[in-house]
Amino acid sequence: MSKILRINTRTKEYRFEDLGQYAGLGGRALTSRIVLDEVPATCHALSAANKLVAAAGILTGTIVANSGRISLGAKSPLTGTIKESNSGGQFAQKLAKLGIQALVLEDKPEEGAGLTSIIITKDGVRFESASDMEGLGTYASMDKIMAKHGAKTGTMLIGPAGETCRLAASVQFSDPEGHPARAAGRGGLGAVMGSKKVKAIVLDDAGCPMLPAVDAEKFKAAAKRWAQILLGHPVTGQGLPGFGTAILINIINEAGALPTKNFREGRFEHAAAISGEAIAETITKRGGKTKHGCHTGCVIQCSQVYVDKAGKYLTSGFEYETVWAFGANTLIKDLDDIAALDRACDDMGLDTIDLGNTIAMAMEGGIIPWGDGKAAEKLIRSVGDKNDSMGRIIGNGTSFAAQAFGVDRVPVVKNQALPAYDPRSVKGIGVTYCTTTQGADHTAGYAVCQNILKVGGDVAPRGKEGQIEISKNLQVATAAVDSLGLCLFVAFAVLDNADGVPCIAEMVSALIGKPYTVDDVVALGVSTLKDELAFNKAAGFSIADDQLPDFFRNEKLAPHGTVWDFTAEEMQAAKVG
Ligand code: SF4
Repeated sequence: MSKILRINTRTKEYRFEDLGQYAGLGGRALTSRIVLDEVPATCHALSAANKLVAAAGILTGTIVANSGRISLGAKSPLTGTIKESNSGGQFAQKLAKLGIQALVLEDKPEEGAGLTSIIITKDGVRFESASDMEGLGTYASMDKIMAKHGAKTGTMLIGPAGETCRLAASVQFSDPEGHPARAAGRGGLGAVMGSKKVKAIVLDDAGCPMLPAVDAEKFKAAAKRWAQILLGHPVTGQGLPGFGTAILINIINEAGALPTKNFREGRFEHAAAISGEAIAETITKRGGKTKHGCHTGCVIQCSQVYVDKAGKYLTSGFEYETVWAFGANTLIKDLDDIAALDRACDDMGLDTIDLGNTIAMAMEGGIIPWGDGKAAEKLIRSVGDKNDSMGRIIGNGTSFAAQAFGVDRVPVVKNQALPAYDPRSVKGIGVTYCTTTQGADHTAGYAVCQNILKVGGDVAPRGKEGQIEISKNLQVATAAVDSLGLCLFVAFAVLDNADGVPCIAEMVSALIGKPYTVDDVVALGVSTLKDELAFNKAAGFSIADDQLPDFFRNEKLAPHGTVWDFTAEEMQAAKVG
């Protein structure tokens, strides 16, 4: 029977509780319900009243392919909304195998308290001083953690940005090789962890078996069918394992929707040099890995291991969003510079999407030249010095930096920086940016599928027709996928296969030994979104917050001459009623 583990970060007391009112929930559904029920919506996100919840999905800890995603939830210090930030890495599977559905960090240590690490094994919970990791990057911290606790642990940790409560701070997760390269990047949840003075949570699942299914035979058969569905689709079976998510650079550039020079144009003249194809070629030439799983049990393997010119590991999980954020958006065209920026963000514990936009603000403000990768890395590394005033600005993300540098073209919704698709030429994703509960977030309702990739439907990307309905349906489906613990990339296969959702429902049914239908999957997504909307309403958010910045309305985007032409009122139909 899975439990909730509550840890008081002030008293260092902990207790295991039955799921009780939270039974049947997992992942995002569970983090959002706990935050709604237990965190005052108007509290300061760095106060003792906020809670940081890490939840394993309903299918996590089992043999189901791609079921090892972790959901982190809290009130976001960046957006002020409820937040679910999702990551790969080894943590979720180990959490579930330890019998923990959700881990809740509560309260806050007294002023002046030192950093702590929390070690969780099948025998219980213990606390260790983390003073030896204070101010250290996540890579050096992981070296210490692995030296002490072994290479097979699953770790969630923060870098200097989280320790100093910067608004763009991520929580990093270790991958199968122990690299802290997977991130719950969005929303500044690293600052919430830092406010509670927790540097790392280390899970050792030695002696803990996979979670058993009530109907083992039916479960095994459905899980096998599920893996075949994923491997049989051209995107999840060939495109993503072959070229990673950066395969999108050329595709989105061709569509005229690759935001270039802080969303001024839709095409980047050097797109080919930073494309997934170029990355795969470079990796192959240097002896890295073009195919890599961020957690054990991933059959898609969209990650990769990027090595430097000497063949030495530089970064992994080198994703489209990051390549765009530090590439086209800032006019940096050197792949090694962009990979070094990815590494620097993972090391400092910073969200790459927000930091790519932040660097664009620094370039807009004349702090560093456009296209200067080395200067950008220096700015990001400055976050590691808690006394560096430029580091303080950069670590607080896009909006804060724009204010500090006097910039008026600021691509944020609810204070969260926009990802890698210009909403003027992919209008469905614009609807998602505006109406999701999370602030601008492409993963919350990835309408790029129907707009550009023509997966799961086909709408004209620069037209308004059909966009609201598509975004709404995707937001519901995504909330369900996040709650099940599945990687969002399964959606490519699921949207194109009539057996996708029934197979998911069958796996859950066999796991819990009770009927679970396609309608239950949809209801899980709807109830999660309703919880999140209720929190945001109580926190003071309204229709007025569901808007893109004015420049998307006023400036035409080349090459198609498109503008954003939805009103905030029009888009309310994209929210669950
Ligand atoms: S497909 Fe990519 S993001 Fe998803 S679980 Fe696998 S490696 Fe991680």
